[in-house]
Amino acid sequence: MQSIGSDFDPWRSAAVAADVAAMAHAAPAAIAATRARRLAALLSAARTGTRLFAERLRGLPDAAPLSALPVLRKDDWMARFEDGVADAALTRAAVRAFAADPARIGLPLQGRYAVFESSGSSGSPGLFVQDAAALAVYDALEALRPLALDPQGAWRGGSPWTLRMAFVGAIEGHFASQVSVQRLRRLNPWLATALRGFSILQPLPDLLAALNHWQPRTLATYPTVAVMLAAEQQRGSLRLRLQEVRTGGETLGEAQRTAIEAAFGCPLRNSYGASEFLAMASECGHGALHLNADWVILEPVDRHGHAVPPGELSHGALLTNLANHVQPLIRYDLGDRIRVAAQPCACGSPLPAIEVLGRHDDALQLSGAQGRDVTLLPLALATVMEDEAGVFDFQLCQRDAHTLALRLGPGEAARRARCHEALQRYARTQGVRALRLLDEPDTLPQRGRSGKVQRVVAGGSRRGGT
Ligand SMILES: [Zn+2]
Repeated sequence: MQSIGSDFDPWRSAAVAADVAAMAHAAPAAIAATRARRLAALLSAARTGTRLFAERLRGLPDAAPLSALPVLRKDDWMARFEDGVADAALTRAAVRAFAADPARIGLPLQGRYAVFESSGSSGSPGLFVQDAAALAVYDALEALRPLALDPQGAWRGGSPWTLRMAFVGAIEGHFASQVSVQRLRRLNPWLATALRGFSILQPLPDLLAALNHWQPRTLATYPTVAVMLAAEQQRGSLRLRLQEVRTGGETLGEAQRTAIEAAFGCPLRNSYGASEFLAMASECGHGALHLNADWVILEPVDRHGHAVPPGELSHGALLTNLANHVQPLIRYDLGDRIRVAAQPCACGSPLPAIEVLGRHDDALQLSGAQGRDVTLLPLALATVMEDEAGVFDFQLCQRDAHTLALRLGPGEAARRARCHEALQRYARTQGVRALRLLDEPDTLPQRGRSGKVQRVVAGGSRRGGT
């Protein structure tokens, strides 16, 4: 067998795939032992391979628990890019130049690495370099874990021979999903006709026409885009006969799922991934996301960085990527709010079930009675908008301690009065004093460069229109 570029190693891929398949049904203790072995290998590689971790891990005994290691913050880490990589050829300038060239999306950097650019939704953009070993792990997890967790559901989108999947997203940059689509098309020529990217940045009528013309059987996109397309499907301007919708990249709410499944008349399968680790969790037949705990560690933490027990919602999550040694991520502050299930999932999987609340929304601080602050949580605001006003495609941007600007997507404008009512009622019950709602009828919810929408944007945040 011949290798097709050294970002793909067929022998390694076969071995990883066999391991990923076996681990999906292993005993929790066996998964924990595998994870510990991989963590020890990562720490050793990071300590000897990078200046950054040689420094950060200095003086720590080999047996120190992960929680004794310092937290890695994205801005500090990006500021010392060259110190954080295990290959001297990977300079920040070289990686940035590569990621700035759209003609090279999905091609290997220096013949051997994949590069994911993050959208910068939480500040500065990140540049994530992945080695062949990590790519083999992501490939195996993405292909095999849905199959292990939901064998019936995994075939809904068709067999690999009948696959026809549209990815609708930001296809103009080196974002993880688009890089993966283009890399898979390069490595598997038969996929080139079965898998196609559609830009979310083109005018909506053009996007609808392109999708109507190509007629995918599977639609893969972000939840907010799926909601928008579901509304177009109901209106009749989109006419797809889908077997499955796949979502990822943003938080998926229950009401969003119901609306998408009803409009397309097919099931939805959700997943959880990030530029920091492409395939963190897949959904089982019971609708729970199961963490790929053999290859990634996610520590739920409170706002002081202390561990949060199962069953409780965290303030953030620290990610340790056990697959990638070229640019180690150890206790990296991912920012996502997660909840690890306290009980095993009814599906019987040994992999822990998690809920993800995402990082793309802010909590709002508004002014209440007697000058005290009132916090409105993004999840609560989204639930009010979805369940009470029936609106899914929206953006709330804080202007000051009394004022929110409301932007609605195309097709949602008729529900503006209901949004006002629902938001005012909710704000009053929370103790907000005299909430002012500004309508911005001429401004659509702003997508970031990666195509994702931050639906709730706090005052002073730079994230609304990046
Ligand atoms: Zn399950």
